[in-house]
Amino acid sequence: MDQPADLSIVEITPSARVETATHGWRAKCLQRLIRMDLPVPRSFAIPAAAVRAIAAGRRLPGADLGRLTGNSGGLLSVRPSALDPEWGGPRSMLNVGMNAARHAELTKTLGPEAADALYRGFVQAYAIHVARLDPDMFSDSDATLAEALRSYRDETDEEFPQDPERQLVEVLRSMARAWEGPTARLLRQAKGAPADAPLGLVVQDMALALGPGVTGSGTIQFIDSVTGDPRITGRFRGQTQGRAQRHDAESIFLTRDARGPSLEEAAPGVFADLVRFGVAARERLKEEMQIEFVVADSRLSIIDAIRVQRSSRAAVRIAVGLARDGIIPPEQAVMRVQPRALTDLLHHQVDPRAPRDLITRGMAASPGAATGRIVFSAAAAQAAAARDESCVLVRRETLPEDIRGMHASVAVLTERGGMSSHAAVIARGLGLPCIVGASGLAIDLRGRVLHAGGRSFREGEEITVDGTSGEVLAGAAAMLEPALDDSFNQLLEWADAARTMKVRANADTPQDAQCARRFGAQGIGLCRTEHMFFDDERLPAMREMIFADRAEDRRLALDRLLPMQRTDFTTLFRIMDGYPVTIRLFDPPLHEFLPHDREGMRELAESLDLPLSDVVRRVEALAEYNPMLGMRGVRLGITMPEIYEMQARAIFEAAIEVGRDGHGVVPEIMIPLVSAMREVELVRHRIDGIAAAVRAETRAEFTYRLGVMVETPRAALRAGDIAEHCAFLSFGTNDLTQMTYGLSRDDAARFMGSYVAQGVYAEDPFHILDQEGVGELVLTGAQRARARRPGITVAMCGEHAGNPESIAFCQRAGLDYVSCSAFRVPVARLAAAQEAI
Ligand code: PEP
Ligand code: MG
Repeated sequence: MDQPADLSIVEITPSARVETATHGWRAKCLQRLIRMDLPVPRSFAIPAAAVRAIAAGRRLPGADLGRLTGNSGGLLSVRPSALDPEWGGPRSMLNVGMNAARHAELTKTLGPEAADALYRGFVQAYAIHVARLDPDMFSDSDATLAEALRSYRDETDEEFPQDPERQLVEVLRSMARAWEGPTARLLRQAKGAPADAPLGLVVQDMALALGPGVTGSGTIQFIDSVTGDPRITGRFRGQTQGRAQRHDAESIFLTRDARGPSLEEAAPGVFADLVRFGVAARERLKEEMQIEFVVADSRLSIIDAIRVQRSSRAAVRIAVGLARDGIIPPEQAVMRVQPRALTDLLHHQVDPRAPRDLITRGMAASPGAATGRIVFSAAAAQAAAARDESCVLVRRETLPEDIRGMHASVAVLTERGGMSSHAAVIARGLGLPCIVGASGLAIDLRGRVLHAGGRSFREGEEITVDGTSGEVLAGAAAMLEPALDDSFNQLLEWADAARTMKVRANADTPQDAQCARRFGAQGIGLCRTEHMFFDDERLPAMREMIFADRAEDRRLALDRLLPMQRTDFTTLFRIMDGYPVTIRLFDPPLHEFLPHDREGMRELAESLDLPLSDVVRRVEALAEYNPMLGMRGVRLGITMPEIYEMQARAIFEAAIEVGRDGHGVVPEIMIPLVSAMREVELVRHRIDGIAAAVRAETRAEFTYRLGVMVETPRAALRAGDIAEHCAFLSFGTNDLTQMTYGLSRDDAARFMGSYVAQGVYAEDPFHILDQEGVGELVLTGAQRARARRPGITVAMCGEHAGNPESIAFCQRAGLDYVSCSAFRVPVARLAAAQEAI
């Protein structure tokens, strides 16, 4: 049987048994401060079990109450002490024990004004938070003490309680019950706490911050919460106590300041002690702390210490600083930073201190923030870029032909689309802030105006896209610069030392590849080659190939593309300098390369010298009801093998060329959208044939690895057979999620919000890998492939590969690497390290 929970109240002394699990973080933290010999007033810890009993109506034994209230000054504070400081807790109550007798004493020592203010403040706080009376009746800071006492009597039909023990009992009960309330539960659950999280309470003698000499209360910290730079900040207010006290109180600077008096000058001894305590607390508590203190006639008391609030960039600097000073080991520094927080450092960020003029919200699809003028087309974006103007591309959704417009923009905003829609995927790859699925937008293309939130914005007007929060703001917001500094690099170096799974990048262009290297990618895990065909120079050859009826004609058009593809690959191989490069063969349906409107078709007819009717017929013939499930991926490779043959040749010739100048490379060729083993066999046969031909023509030797992208449930289930024909498998979880759920990547955003809100899906499965369903296919596929071919490389390259929870899953599943957008590589390095530590 379980031991009955210990309900005893503990006086916090250096040797008392105070545990975070039993008494909460605040009680434990106070004990550490007491062990450091800091001047902490007498404090007691009430264990969580006792707080539960109090909430259930049990009374504390009289002896315990006597111990708590039996101090000389007579006043007490009661503060929450949850397991984790982030979980919050009910509001602290100060000056418990205040009554007419103490008021009379204080009137003598402090004067009537201070004594009245203290008593009135307590009556008001007690009325609102303990007796739960109407706050409107008790929030008037101009009310007199007599008025406050009268209101209390009028509302409760009894006098304000005078017995300190009764006051304390009521305060403890109200705090214990507040913690059990539904709002408090929801709030702490949102911060990751279990619904039934325990709460301890701390009762402490009040150090009065009223009286003669330098007297008041304040907080001090030694690091800047936004930048993480070492800097003393905080406040000191004379004749006031507690964090949330009157704002009109006299406030002085902590450190010497030309603008006015400072604590450093007024009480240099106190200030020096605070600094000394700060240094000691950092070392002993292994954390940057904000210290709350009281000075009474130049005598210092330390009331409390909490973890300094911090921005992402400050979190990195603090963790690295603590490890560099030998206070925590490097692995602990790695564990202290949320992987997601790193993303904030890679991009501009809207300054959290700046005002925000919110227009509308959408899905935060690619992080960072940027300000630019509204443009509604890719062409307008390119024109703006040519004028050196920053622009935000605003579209209903983006299409492959918008890529150049996206390149020319500083941010992208779409009305439709989800986390793995075209706009989202490309923007993440480019590191562009992006918001998708902003359904509150209405784009009037004719009037060249955007309507949202009851306001209108014309083309050319400035807006800010905050892709980190999903907020679209009017005008230019104040920004923080990216922080790819020494601390950032140091943290990732430590993460790399702890990590076992490799991290590669999804990169299609030389810029992407350079970015991938800069962020520490160990290769390219997915190069989507179709993005190479939208160039003005290449699109005509591509279209000619599509219009060719016979294989020979297709080959002729593809021959024109061959040297360009070869150059693409030599460039990538050179940049990656020996790191592996996985090139995915052509994937999208061909109609994406054809014009969608009559004007475009007319231009195409002209350039191909064909009748318009032929062009229209061809476009119609290629149209599909379900292009994502149609003629794409390996299905094109089987029915029009010339495309894959050209690409394979370009890859091999590029490998030979860079091999000649010393950059050894073993290219990896990946087949998309496989669902049957025979598809792999057929494609492999052709590619082997091309390899043999290139070897014979060039008399050069090279090797390559052939792999399969597992993007259909069938490929995952048949991974054993498929593994027989390839050296690696890479899970493309965008399509795999789409096909497992039967959800369209491009249309799911319409209902995803309702689905998540109603708990149908815990999360958007395009954003966070569905470990139960899609994850099971990944595990099954990996296990079957490895059983058939031990040592086969197994990886993931869908968008999930950049998501910290999903990366942790990949590490647990024993995948060899994940490959994500270059801008997510640092996040992946940190997340993989944390799972390995
Ligand atoms: C995938 O499907 O997961 C993938 C990476 O390929 P794409 O996003 O290009 O379809
Ligand atoms: Mg795919």
